[in-house]
Amino acid sequence: MIKLITFDLDDTLWDNMPVLIRAEQKAWQRLNDYWPETHKRLDPNSVFEYRLKVRDERPELKYRITELRHYSIKKILQVCDCPESRAEQIASDLMKEFLTWRHEVKCFPEVQPVLSYLSSKYRIGAVTNGNVDISRLNVSEYFDFSLRGEDFDSIKPEPTLFLKAMELAGVRPEETLHVGDCLKADVAGAGALGIRTAWFNPGDKALPEGAKPDHVIRSLTGILRILNSKEEDSLPESS
Ligand SMILES: [Mg+2]
Repeated sequence: MIKLITFDLDDTLWDNMPVLIRAEQKAWQRLNDYWPETHKRLDPNSVFEYRLKVRDERPELKYRITELRHYSIKKILQVCDCPESRAEQIASDLMKEFLTWRHEVKCFPEVQPVLSYLSSKYRIGAVTNGNVDISRLNVSEYFDFSLRGEDFDSIKPEPTLFLKAMELAGVRPEETLHVGDCLKADVAGAGALGIRTAWFNPGDKALPEGAKPDHVIRSLTGILRILNSKEEDSLPESS
């Protein structure tokens, strides 16, 4: 019997790409306000490449995506002759703004009613590799807890976040359902621990060979069908 439902966030509760693109564009514009030299010497693509370079230089930031972005901005500014203390200040200010834009997500229409219903019957957790702070969203009231990779130095499909979620809820894998859009991070990651999985597949993509979600859903309302069906019947179903 399912007692805990964990949700991936990005691309499961909202379409994330437009949010990130907008936040990146705004951050690039703001960089010009703070330190115009950056726009004289760099373009948005080189900023992205620089971030990859910094990630290679500081592998300990691999999981800490907010810190990685902060450090990259500071380094870019310094490359453009910004003094270190000023670069640190700008990076802090710009990251605050970036996180505001990054939280301007628009949940799919069914998210609020589905979470509202489920939260009255199940423990609900967020398990994300991204840096969204669920307490900043208008659906936060439905979540019992939220776990972010950067706070645990681990990302899905690694087991850490899933194990922590079950520990917090005091449940076993067979009492847990994880819902997410990524076959590797969400389905394979949770599935490896014996957690029941629902692959969120709004685009109705073909299931690649070897992928083994317990359920496939095109909308979050499909979760209600999973839970209302005989729970131990684990044949894949489309909804
Ligand atoms: Mg996702």
